[in-house]
Amino acid sequence: MKHYNIPIFINHVGCPNSCVFCSQEKINGMETDIKPIEVKNIIEEYLEYLPKKSTIEVAFFGGTFTGISFGLQREYLEVVKPFIDKGLVHGIRLSTRPDCIDNKILEQLKKFGVTAIELGVQSLNQKVLDLTERNYPVEAVEKAVALIKRFDIDVGIQLMLGLPGTTEELDFETAKRTVELKPTMARIYPTLVLSGTKMEKMYNEGIYTPYSLEEAVKVGKKVYSLLELNDIKVIRVGLQPSEDLREEGVIVAGPFHSAFRELIEGEIYLDFIQSLILLENNKNFIEVYSNEKNISKIIGINGVNKKKLGDKFFVKIDKNLNLNEILINGKKYGRKDILKRILV
Ligand code: SF4
Repeated sequence: MKHYNIPIFINHVGCPNSCVFCSQEKINGMETDIKPIEVKNIIEEYLEYLPKKSTIEVAFFGGTFTGISFGLQREYLEVVKPFIDKGLVHGIRLSTRPDCIDNKILEQLKKFGVTAIELGVQSLNQKVLDLTERNYPVEAVEKAVALIKRFDIDVGIQLMLGLPGTTEELDFETAKRTVELKPTMARIYPTLVLSGTKMEKMYNEGIYTPYSLEEAVKVGKKVYSLLELNDIKVIRVGLQPSEDLREEGVIVAGPFHSAFRELIEGEIYLDFIQSLILLENNKNFIEVYSNEKNISKIIGINGVNKKKLGDKFFVKIDKNLNLNEILINGKKYGRKDILKRILV
């Protein structure tokens, strides 16, 4: 059954912090906070056009949901509960900070039907967390993940690549530690410098340099491959640009690409095919068969892989292959074979 989120952005409410990269209003495309009563209207509007036979969750994103007062959290949850009781909504998911989770909060969330909590972890390196002014120890993440799991709620981990003080190696280390935490899902965002943030100042003063797009893809494909190989569902790669984010001057610097995931997927296939060419250097052609849905990833954005691999590279559709299979010069490879090669 298809899954849909009804997104409700709670803009910066409850957040006592000021992380150097944060420009919440611009990310959400909203300036003001939302009242619990407005949540009801949004849900009703979405339910009017979402297909009946689908899994629907109300998603409180944007701010630090569990950082708002206990009573206000309850007010938001109470609005959703009747929709869950009637079977119109199947659960609630929300995003929050790792240091805003405790037993009392989780008891309430569970009671009102929260099924998934996404933690804005960003990095699992203490130096990087400190330079980013996240203001919590790495242990807070481990503690929060363990607590959430105890309540049988799915855990998501959001990671940012290229934060102040990091390196490609440290970002990959964070990915390895994420695997040890065994979340259900993850999101990967390359760090962008947005106007009006502390990071913009750091960038202008030369204290901070974001990844180039090439660097972000290079580390991103390793992080992505490692998570997927360990059965962590990567539900988003790269920031979804709101209208405001696309406005001139909002993104000051950084590896922005509107199809960052596709870039990474394309590079994963390119690396794999190139490694086979190296292994089979006596072959004078490379013929790839794949399920129709993977063709665009194999040839890359704007056919970049095709251009790089030259005229001895042929890609053809084979409807009998499933999404996780690819046939190269007569030999079948699975998705895991492809991802493993990225980590060599
Ligand atoms: S905790 Fe989240 S909302 Fe608060 S400043 Fe940091 S990124 Fe922004």
